[in-house]
Amino acid sequence: MTGYDRYFTPDHDLVRRVAREWVTAEIIPHVNEWEEAAGFPRDLYARAAAIGLLGIGYPEAYGGTPGDLFMKIVAWEEVARCGSGGLGASLGSHDIALPPIVAFGTPEQRDRMLPAVLSGQSIAALAVTEPGGGSDVAGLRTTAVRDGDDYIVNGSKTFITSGVRADQFTVAVRTGGEGHHGISLLVIDADAPGFTRSGPLAKMGWWASDTAELFFDNCRVPAANLIGEENMGFYAIMENFQKERLQLSVGANINAELALEACLAYAAERRAFGKPLTGFQVLRHKLVDMATRVEVSREYTYRVAARMNAGEDQVTEVSMAKLFATEASDFVTNEAVQIFGGYGYMRGYLVERLYRDNRILTIGGGTTEVMKEIIAKRLL
Ligand SMILES: Cc1cc2nc3c(=O)[nH]c(=O)nc-3n(C[C@H](O)[C@H](O)[C@H](O)COP(=O)(O)OP(=O)(O)OC[C@H]3O[C@@H](n4cnc5c(N)ncnc54)[C@H](O)[C@@H]3O)c2cc1C
Repeated sequence: MTGYDRYFTPDHDLVRRVAREWVTAEIIPHVNEWEEAAGFPRDLYARAAAIGLLGIGYPEAYGGTPGDLFMKIVAWEEVARCGSGGLGASLGSHDIALPPIVAFGTPEQRDRMLPAVLSGQSIAALAVTEPGGGSDVAGLRTTAVRDGDDYIVNGSKTFITSGVRADQFTVAVRTGGEGHHGISLLVIDADAPGFTRSGPLAKMGWWASDTAELFFDNCRVPAANLIGEENMGFYAIMENFQKERLQLSVGANINAELALEACLAYAAERRAFGKPLTGFQVLRHKLVDMATRVEVSREYTYRVAARMNAGEDQVTEVSMAKLFATEASDFVTNEAVQIFGGYGYMRGYLVERLYRDNRILTIGGGTTEVMKEIIAKRLL
């Protein structure tokens, strides 16, 4: 179904068909309205869970549907094809919040923290970034001090996807000394005493996702919500970033592909100076440059995913994938607006949304500059 048969089996194709039908029927007709309203109905989580979309890749015991990384990619791609990056980001925020619980949580924590999210009854978010900085994770300042059976948390987080509506947050806190050795992960419920949050932050793109600032003022959190060992959270966060970077690469590739598809159709039909846009060599070459980036980026992302799926260390390669895919999609979505001319600048046109939604991708989940630092450390 994708032309990438080396990576996708008939089982993946089946899930893709179900997901595509669901997205086409349940999301695409409402995307413009939800984008303008800066949010989508909360019950979309439960509806996505009901067709098995939210639980892909999670253990069956907690309501998930086990599947390999390519099954996860199918889910990410098909939701991304709705053309609203914000909807995909919020509907998929559990994919950055839950993996540390799956990997490092106790059976009791997994029982308590996973099923409600995977059934779409509860929303999960990841909170690492602080107003003082996001790239320097080892420098984070939100503190959690042990007090009997609880931690007392003080500090704030910002730019948190699903932050306005989430019921549970996987939060990076400082439990020890300075640097990466002093960081832990705590799951904090939205009804914890001392927790408050902002309303939705107004953004350039990703309008359909609710993004918030979180405040912890002597917030009391049961020590039973500590994920993994105290002061070992940095490693869990870094591991979590690997899949998030793959997820963002996949999203970038779909943005670029959607923009290319829209341009191929438009350029064949739109006329200037008595001929279709495809009659101008400069535009044909533009479309070729776009298509080449889409193809190369997609193939490389899949190659990295295949190696991750096989358990190989791909820290350098997934950073390269994110670096390349997000810059490629910036190029393609920018050119797409150009090809659409004035219409490309108009609200309601897909390429206009793809262009502004794409801009976050070289920033979130580790910036382009941070990707280059990671690659340089291994290369030099
Ligand atoms: C819409 C949106 C959704 C987000 N969702 C989440 C979320 O759900 N959870 C979450 O925790 N965070 C989230 N983020 C935060 C995002 O991950 C951070 O914005 C990002 O990591 C960058 O951090 P910063 O904004 O503090 O920039 P800074 O770290 O202050 O960086 C500023 C600039 O300096 C550069 N820079 C920093 N350090 C270096 C270096 N060592 N070498 C070279 N250049 C450097 C950066 O590349 C950047 O260009 C989201 C952000 C946005 C905008």
